[in-house]
Amino acid sequence: MRPTVCVPLRSEWLALRDRIDPELVEVVRTGRATGEPRPGPVLVAGVAGALVSGIEPGDLVVANEVRRGDTVVTCPVAPLLAGALRRRGLRVHLGPVVTVDHVVHDPAERESLAATGAIAVDTESALLLSRDGSDAVVRAVVDAPDRLLLRPGMPLRGVKALAALRAAAPVIEQWAGAVGERVILLAGPRSFCAGVERAIEIVERALDRFGAPVYVRRQIVHNRHVVADLQARGAVFVEEAEEVPEGSVLVLAAHGVAPAVRRTAEQRGLQVIDATCPLVSKVHQEVRRFAARDSTVLLIGHHDHEEVVGTRGEAPDRVLVVADAREAETVEVPDPQRLAYAMQTTLAQDEAAETVQVLRRRFPAIEGPHSDDICYATTNRQHAVSRVAREADLVIVIGSQNSSNSLRLVEVCETLGTPARLVDDASDVDLDLLAGVRRVGITAGASAPPVLVEALVAALSGLGRTVVCELGDTTEDVAFLLPKEVTTA
Ligand code: SF4
Repeated sequence: MRPTVCVPLRSEWLALRDRIDPELVEVVRTGRATGEPRPGPVLVAGVAGALVSGIEPGDLVVANEVRRGDTVVTCPVAPLLAGALRRRGLRVHLGPVVTVDHVVHDPAERESLAATGAIAVDTESALLLSRDGSDAVVRAVVDAPDRLLLRPGMPLRGVKALAALRAAAPVIEQWAGAVGERVILLAGPRSFCAGVERAIEIVERALDRFGAPVYVRRQIVHNRHVVADLQARGAVFVEEAEEVPEGSVLVLAAHGVAPAVRRTAEQRGLQVIDATCPLVSKVHQEVRRFAARDSTVLLIGHHDHEEVVGTRGEAPDRVLVVADAREAETVEVPDPQRLAYAMQTTLAQDEAAETVQVLRRRFPAIEGPHSDDICYATTNRQHAVSRVAREADLVIVIGSQNSSNSLRLVEVCETLGTPARLVDDASDVDLDLLAGVRRVGITAGASAPPVLVEALVAALSGLGRTVVCELGDTTEDVAFLLPKEVTTA
């Protein structure tokens, strides 16, 4: 069904009419319509009054729900719209909008509406929505609690609001292009692994036990949501141990560190709690073992990745980093008879195998680790996403840009010919990408919280009816012990 954009006032309608492709979406001037809900998908656009400070005339409000009396209509697509509008440089606020039956001039009434948690008020949205789960509301703020309607400056505020509405028109078009029914294919397993869960729990327990601040060297895991959440609870993230006040508690991140970092921490009298994933520690042990036999170790991994930097630090004079098969073809070693290899834990399996093949061809005496260094979580997530990629038109991978295992999931999809995008969360998803896409695969890197997957599924459901299918039956029951510093009394 063709989506509808409902604009109550003539000035709002004029702001959008010529900026939206009528082939794509019908822009209807509604007045303050009442009666039966419209058929979806419906996007209500227009002006509104802000209820809370910090929202200025000319800002946009995207409703995540619309309230009128006891009725609440949710708008799950809101994060997608808000993200798209922000990427256009617009100031956007996401939150509940309340619809009332009169223009609110009384500051006390605004205050009481704000006390309900609503961030903006209008007189139409709740009356125009379809209430079928595919509704959207974008409102441009025309007045604020300290600059009410009918006060000096009103015409200028009106101009600002209509300009913001005009600027939102391309995103409204994108929304119209993206609405439609979809099948969502969820890769399983996805999201947190045992090493990431352990690292996060270590910081949480350290905060409980020692109180804030607890210092953490580098990102505890490569995910900005996890870092922001722990920061809010009192964790302080630093680049180096030198920045930590003497005598403080310092947690070492899941990717592991070079021994030199531990020495610095010791010299500063820091109480160190090691959150290095045990599977990364295993690779450190291998490198120490090979180096102790005077072997050169070819460490297959990404040169600047923190895990590789830490592992290399175990024997900096004996470790050479080899990024890929191309580097494996040219690497020079002092003695081919005294040679071993080890791997970063989060590599793409196929690429790593190709690199090992080249090394074995060039250096037949090379020794390898007892068991594969690519960890179970990386392996399982790559298998799962490849299954999804074979059936999907597009795969969305949730994870941060510096998450190695998330980037590899994107590469796995692309290798299979399926477009894939790495996003931090639902607000990062480009609506244009979804146009014409009916089968969307979703996975998440080992450092991305499961709640982000749930939020993305919910947001996509706001674009039309969705059927969600879980693909994959691998169960993970790996669990690691916590260090004694956060467990013993
Ligand atoms: Fe450990 Fe693998 Fe998780 Fe990294 S991805 S923390 S190596 S289990």
